[in-house]
Amino acid sequence: MDGAPETPRSGQPPSDASPASAKSAASAVARPASEQPLDTPVPERLGEWRPAEDVIQVVRSPQPGATRGTWRAFRETARGLRTVFGQILRGPTTVQYPEEKVPVFPRFRGRHKLHRFEDIPHNGAQAGLEKCVGCSLCAAACPADCIRVVAAENTPENRVSAGERYAAVYEINLAQCIFCGYCEAACPFDAITMGHDYELSDYDREDLIFTKEMLLAEAIERTPLRNEDE
Ligand code: SF4
Ligand code: SF4
Repeated sequence: MDGAPETPRSGQPPSDASPASAKSAASAVARPASEQPLDTPVPERLGEWRPAEDVIQVVRSPQPGATRGTWRAFRETARGLRTVFGQILRGPTTVQYPEEKVPVFPRFRGRHKLHRFEDIPHNGAQAGLEKCVGCSLCAAACPADCIRVVAAENTPENRVSAGERYAAVYEINLAQCIFCGYCEAACPFDAITMGHDYELSDYDREDLIFTKEMLLAEAIERTPLRNEDE
């Protein structure tokens, strides 16, 4: 446009620039941007954007042609129909819950259980004592911070567990639990394990705090187990 000042291209000094400034601009452009002094004007440091040189050309595969395209569409449609008809032959998969329960795999991690010794423990204490010794390793391993253990000393008159101490309070807040199984892995006495019960919904959050008595009680085995090969 007439009268408009000409924009200098990167590496070219403006026409009215002095020889000294032209020389410094040219030397600034010749060096990489990271090595240029910070007082160098940004356009000279970074260079002028030339869209025509920066275009990325996308190379596409050749068009398949009419015959090959028709065959490809037919093949993909047939594949989809095979999946549909395969499901029809397998029959409906709707489960009439809650009358009918979805079986879980044996390693499914559901509601926790606390255990007692069923026979005489290794240190000769009586059977039926709690396995938990209140060491709090499970609480330390819990990433959701949902286990609370308060330990107390066993006495000859009141022996609860086979160790020196027992869990006077043991609570798991199942509203916070993420069923990761770290508590089960951390327990040195297999005192806590994950069961298979997954029906844990309730109306009140407080009811999802399971106490020691609830965890020691025999779980109502309502969840059927699925075989590994099913
Ligand atoms: S299963 Fe995981 S989140 Fe739940 S109580 Fe155990 S360690 Fe904590
Ligand atoms: S359940 Fe196991 S890890 Fe947790 S306090 Fe009891 S003995 Fe320790």
